[in-house]
Amino acid sequence: MIESHDPRSVIVAGGGILGCLTSLLLADAGRTVTLIEQNDDLWLETSSVGEGKVHLGLVYAHGTASTRTGMLSGALAFAPVVERALGHALDWSTLVGDPFDYLVMRDSLLRPDELAAVYRSLDDEHAGLGRPPYLGMAIDQLAAREPHTDETGVPAFATAERAVDPDALRALVVAAIAARSDRITVLPATRVQAVDQTDDRVRVRVSHPRSPDCVERTLEAAAFVDARWHWQGHGVQGVSVSPRNLRAKSAVMFDTEASARTVTLVLGPFGDVVRRSSGVYASWYPHARIAHEHRSFASTALLAAVEAANGSTDAESAAAEQTAALVELGLLSPDARALSVRTGVIIGEGSTDIHEHESRLHDRDGAAVALDGRVALPRSLKLTTAPSAALATATAVDTLLREDSAS
Ligand SMILES: Cc1cc2nc3c(=O)[nH]c(=O)nc-3n(C[C@H](O)[C@H](O)[C@H](O)COP(=O)(O)OP(=O)(O)OC[C@H]3O[C@@H](n4cnc5c(N)ncnc54)[C@H](O)[C@@H]3O)c2cc1C
Repeated sequence: MIESHDPRSVIVAGGGILGCLTSLLLADAGRTVTLIEQNDDLWLETSSVGEGKVHLGLVYAHGTASTRTGMLSGALAFAPVVERALGHALDWSTLVGDPFDYLVMRDSLLRPDELAAVYRSLDDEHAGLGRPPYLGMAIDQLAAREPHTDETGVPAFATAERAVDPDALRALVVAAIAARSDRITVLPATRVQAVDQTDDRVRVRVSHPRSPDCVERTLEAAAFVDARWHWQGHGVQGVSVSPRNLRAKSAVMFDTEASARTVTLVLGPFGDVVRRSSGVYASWYPHARIAHEHRSFASTALLAAVEAANGSTDAESAAAEQTAALVELGLLSPDARALSVRTGVIIGEGSTDIHEHESRLHDRDGAAVALDGRVALPRSLKLTTAPSAALATATAVDTLLREDSAS
């Protein structure tokens, strides 16, 4: 059965930060959007499991300058684009935590003096831009120019970098989508199976995996935005996806008593401790990386590992190794008790891991969009760059539809 839609409407697949913001920006441009999400609710996958760090580029000190510039520009655009999508200004102080200290581990891939040189150059870049605000705040320095000795005894850099609370941001964005029901129709529990296109429309075959008869139907629209994260491109006619570095990464939530600190451990396979008003998020990479593979699309084994970790009923045992490592470093209280485990898929390039000097995980693309006829493929491998990618995508699709109307 083909259901005809408004021929000027857009189908957005994937209700994480990227799909949600793209939908809101398209609605703001006057477009009618159908937002398709396989889960029962929006923003329950990757966008909800991370530490929410809005990267200034510092953690990519071993990568290319263009990676750092891409992160910095994504970070500076983060607040303005989110506010534009929501249609109002936000008090960012209620959404972000304390600034990160960067603690330099003894086996860091770069020495403190090497890190300081990279941080200085990134800070000069920010100064050269006229020091635009970051997350609604004025900042006069991205990172200290010299390290100090941290209370744990290692060299450390104070930075301006912060994390947003993904749960708090989700609540605002989901409410904004509900308030735009005049233009955005959300189809939950609906899975995109296949996409093809003609000169004047896209056809999107969807299923309802949890309905008793698992009925399939085909929706039509003028354009399709694929914001399905690691499933992007799957089943889309004419799109091929090269093998990528897919890692299932797990983090642990504690109550607020577990730590009073917000730190990132650099540079290499280490971790973070992030204090939020609702609790403490922590990860220790060597144990946090529960599965990895180099494939175009995640295997069922990798996805089963993600599901098992998230569904763990014995959070303490799933988190025990990470907790023990962070307690030993003096970053978590010895009484810290894990409350829950959060796991998701991270996408990177190459097949080697972050502890290797040559690993391509030291680099990440910035924000972009590729338009293949009527199919838009936003490119953002980080929460940081998702708002910029959403804006680029909404602009590209809106331009395409304007050209349709003009012809
Ligand atoms: C542990 C972890 C920590 C991270 N920390 C950070 C960080 O601190 N800073 C940072 O910048 N980035 C971080 N990231 C990366 C960041 O979380 C992602 O880049 C971002 O959340 C991706 O958003 P998204 O909307 O593209 O994907 P998602 O949030 O995964 O949304 C995609 C949606 O598509 C839906 N979907 C998939 N297939 C289908 C289908 N066939 N039909 C319908 N719907 C479908 C999914 O259910 C999902 O809701 C982290 C990632 C992980 C895993």
